[in-house]
Amino acid sequence: MKEVRVRFAPSPTGPLHIGGVRTALYNYLFAKKNGGKMLLRIEDTDQTRFVPGAEDYIIKSLDWCGIKFDESDIVGGPYGPYKQSNRKPLYKQYSDELIAKGHAYYAFDTAEELDNLRKEAEAQKKTFIYNAETRQELRNSLTMTKEDVDALIANGTPYTVRFMMPENYVVEMHDIIRGDIKVNTNTLDDKVLFKSDGMPTYHLANIVDDHLMKISHVIRGEEWLPSMPLHVLLYQAFGWEAPEFAHLPLLLKPDGNGKLSKRDGDRLGFPVFPMQWENPETHEISSGYKQSGYYAEAFINMLALLGWNPGTEQEIFSMDELIQAFSFDHCSKSGARFNVEKAKWFNHEYLMRRSSEEVGKEYQEWLKTEKNIDADIQYVTKVAALVKDRVNFVKEMWDQSFFFFEEPTTYDEVTVKKRWKENSADLMCQASEVIRNIDDFSAENIDKVLNEWITSNELGMGPVMNGLRLMLVGAGKGPHIHEILGLIGKDEALKRIEKGIKTLDVRP
Ligand code: GLU
Repeated sequence: MKEVRVRFAPSPTGPLHIGGVRTALYNYLFAKKNGGKMLLRIEDTDQTRFVPGAEDYIIKSLDWCGIKFDESDIVGGPYGPYKQSNRKPLYKQYSDELIAKGHAYYAFDTAEELDNLRKEAEAQKKTFIYNAETRQELRNSLTMTKEDVDALIANGTPYTVRFMMPENYVVEMHDIIRGDIKVNTNTLDDKVLFKSDGMPTYHLANIVDDHLMKISHVIRGEEWLPSMPLHVLLYQAFGWEAPEFAHLPLLLKPDGNGKLSKRDGDRLGFPVFPMQWENPETHEISSGYKQSGYYAEAFINMLALLGWNPGTEQEIFSMDELIQAFSFDHCSKSGARFNVEKAKWFNHEYLMRRSSEEVGKEYQEWLKTEKNIDADIQYVTKVAALVKDRVNFVKEMWDQSFFFFEEPTTYDEVTVKKRWKENSADLMCQASEVIRNIDDFSAENIDKVLNEWITSNELGMGPVMNGLRLMLVGAGKGPHIHEILGLIGKDEALKRIEKGIKTLDVRP
């Protein structure tokens, strides 16, 4: 195989959608697997769709994901600049070259004229197509004399350059994922390659840059498949060797009905963007995986398996393992349904695999920002060790561990009804005495002492433990009682039991 060079080529028309992240990811995995290079090219030739902040957002999001580029305007590289608006002067010569070779022509039809033609066709229930059938009747360099064309251009009349789509020709193509594809050019139109604002269109700039940047494989979303014949024909028209193509399957909505789109925003109850995005015009906020508490590794692992499978049962992959395992052989042609429960499951798996120290640090930060609690790192680390396996996200740890940081202020009604019996207050008084007399207040020893006390007095594990849980937690949840006691300490425990008895013991 020749040197693998791939590119991720987003248009900064808004935030990057998770489908776009997956495209970047597959490019990255393919490049790294094959010892190749991956570059970032910003395709911003459509100035009407420019959205401020989008480029920066895309760069930051990919960085968060751990997708690194070998070449870009930030890291540099031999084929820059890597932003198309900064390459503007170089495209015109290629448009001129196609005209000179007879593969393209000037078109002077105004937007209004074309609009009228479209409407006329619509009225007859037809679609207007600018192609071999109609081009001979339109205002272009194929129907005018050279003098007229030169005069129009000289006096500044706006024009576009259109590709002259061959008539009734079968384009034979190969896609790595989809196999051989044939398209008859009669179904295609004379696409604009160069616009009246002096900018190339996506099609021309994309082909010219892929050629100049020596791209070996074009890996992109299925939505670009309809452009493939034009792109292949452009390579032929220039006399350049075309790269190989791989069109990735769409990401579908969870119900499988249609493509997961940017417009879905938070409508479906989960983010469609890697990071939070604020619309610069409306200031509307769309949530992101990062801010929702996902680990980048979990997010990437989840995305990698939407459209590709390793051919084994393995589900958890680090980036390096993904690189080793990735190939197009196991990429599917059909769309991959997004599943938010699976996404959460991945985060849970990564959270469990993290050390208690790491999770403790993250939780300590969360406690500070969300609850204004300054907690000791060793203490939080112990809490993390007890509860991290029970949650999907660090932010969910609070619900499982608030009682390590504050005493209960309420007692869950349902639990009280079910667990607080007539003899409970009495039992709790006794338990309080037992606890007061424990000298070695390690969780292990507490467990031993409580057990011995309960068994030798035949008090029953349930009544004592359920009562204590209510006193210490205020509800029927949480880790083992001895673990809670060991962490909050003797004084705090005795205080809580006393307060609990006072609050719940309503006997006259
Ligand atoms: N600029 C195109 C996009 O926004 C790139 C498509 C391609 O990879 O050729 O997706």
